[in-house]
Amino acid sequence: MSRKIFCILISWWLVVPLHAKVHRIVVLHTNDLHAHLAASGRSAGAAAIAGYFKQVRAEERNVLVLDAGDYLQGPPISAATKGRAVFEVMDLMGYSSLTLGNHEFDYGAESLQQGIDLLEETPIISCNVLYQGKPLLPPSFIISIGELKVAVVGGLGGGLYHSISAKCIAGFEFLPLAAEIQRQATRLNEKADLVIAITHQGFDRDLEMAERVRGIDVIIGGHDHGWHDSAKMVGVIKDAAAGEKDRRQTVVASAAPYGKAVGRLELFYDDETDKLVDFKFRLVTAAELAEVAPLGKVAEKIEEVERSLEQRFGRKLATVLEPLNRKGWEKPVGSLVADGLAWAVGAEIGLTNTGGLRDDLPAGEITVADIWKVIPFDNTICTFNVTGKQLINILERYASRRSGALQVSGLSHQLYFSNRGRAKIGECSLALQRSYRVSTTDYVCQQIEKRLGEKLDYLDTGRDWRVALEEYVTHLGVVEKPETGRIKYVEKELKIKK
Ligand SMILES: [Zn+2]
Repeated sequence: MSRKIFCILISWWLVVPLHAKVHRIVVLHTNDLHAHLAASGRSAGAAAIAGYFKQVRAEERNVLVLDAGDYLQGPPISAATKGRAVFEVMDLMGYSSLTLGNHEFDYGAESLQQGIDLLEETPIISCNVLYQGKPLLPPSFIISIGELKVAVVGGLGGGLYHSISAKCIAGFEFLPLAAEIQRQATRLNEKADLVIAITHQGFDRDLEMAERVRGIDVIIGGHDHGWHDSAKMVGVIKDAAAGEKDRRQTVVASAAPYGKAVGRLELFYDDETDKLVDFKFRLVTAAELAEVAPLGKVAEKIEEVERSLEQRFGRKLATVLEPLNRKGWEKPVGSLVADGLAWAVGAEIGLTNTGGLRDDLPAGEITVADIWKVIPFDNTICTFNVTGKQLINILERYASRRSGALQVSGLSHQLYFSNRGRAKIGECSLALQRSYRVSTTDYVCQQIEKRLGEKLDYLDTGRDWRVALEEYVTHLGVVEKPETGRIKYVEKELKIKK
């Protein structure tokens, strides 16, 4: 053997030890299912998704199935059962673990605890949610997948609790997520080969967290409702001499909302270097999932619940002449909801937030279920009095936030943005000094007080806004497209006469 070949062989032997082994794990994941349990045009439905989980488990040896939160809130099956039916279905689907999204709190502490108790087969984890001073859930768990020990830690992203109704998070405390995940990662790395975080904070924040936190191999996320058709590897392994030898790279992945797709992440882990050496990612779309045999017990459970709700939610209310969507600054379905809020209490002005509009209203005969799909949240109607000037200030500041402009009834205004990105109201039908009675939801009142710092002194009527909207469309009988021109969006900054 020549000296040169001998040297190559020796160096190869040093680099690749003979007993090194690359393990492959398939992680299937969902996020933001939002109670889309039944299959529809855009959603695969829980039975098909669970059927896919079962199929992959039959094909592959090392499978982990995760959900990154927000399975509640959407079609009436969620609100009408205060989340109970959704927890029951999730438990039948074959998940290895779930975590909490912000919408899991939508029905309050008692309903959440009841939902958690319904999970007999499925560990639910969260490292940063306290209830009455104590951790609500275990932070993490360790599972054997093939020859590997995999740790899974869960958590809810920073600041999201601001968007939850105050009555729903009474008694809860939310610790900063990255710090808690770091604490868990340090501990779990002692015991596990791979550490996977399931988080509910949005892809961008997951990427930021991957840069900051050490010792997480994978982040599976949710919340932003994006279509995430690629995963990213974040983090630079620097020179070991510079003290960076423990730094790992982190793969960040998310899927799509409403069961429009399941994420399929294949991980390749080298047990010699204790590192992920490669990954593959793709979204398995609703069209592909429709080809899979649905899981019978899940389909049966959904049918059973829907049958029990049919009498209440299948009732026909009115005929809608053309579909009312959520496009543009002024959203036709938002105008209808604002009109209904004003009508319900005989107020001059109605206001509703864009984020509370969860679906379009289809044309044709509509049922109670259609109304609840549009506004699924458990909110009550509240009223307050303000001057025109105060109201303009509220509209401007609300629209300056990323959550969108308030939808209005009983007024019209021009909306534009200053060079600094602040929303401004141009011409407006309100008289500045006059007092107006406004009808909206407890949620909007709380947001105005908490986020805008405006004291409202509002009255909570205790009336469910969904029921009020059912009554409003019944009163209309035939629902026409609400009059337009309430929010006139102006592209450029206006020169207003002083
Ligand atoms: Zn969310």
